Amino acid sequence: MIKILLLIVIGFAVWALIRAYQRSLNKPPIQPRDQVVENMVKCAHCGVNMPRSEAIFSGGEFFCTPEHKQLGKK
Ligand SMILES: [Zn+2]
Repeated sequence: MIKILLLIVIGFAVWALIRAYQRSLNKPPIQPRDQVVENMVKCAHCGVNMPRSEAIFSGGEFFCTPEHKQLGKK
């Protein structure tokens, strides 16, 4: 009977470790998201905020769409 209880305790400990490990695996994607927020840029034409990777850079200004790039800074 004690052996069964011990197995349950060990099983629970292993399950808790796996849960903690899975939680630590789920954490990293949040950090790049914070970096994306830091790299937000403003469209020089309409003032909309977007990630720098999605923005169009032209003449020292960022634009949200090719149309706004053509229209230029407002
Ligand atoms: Zn725009």
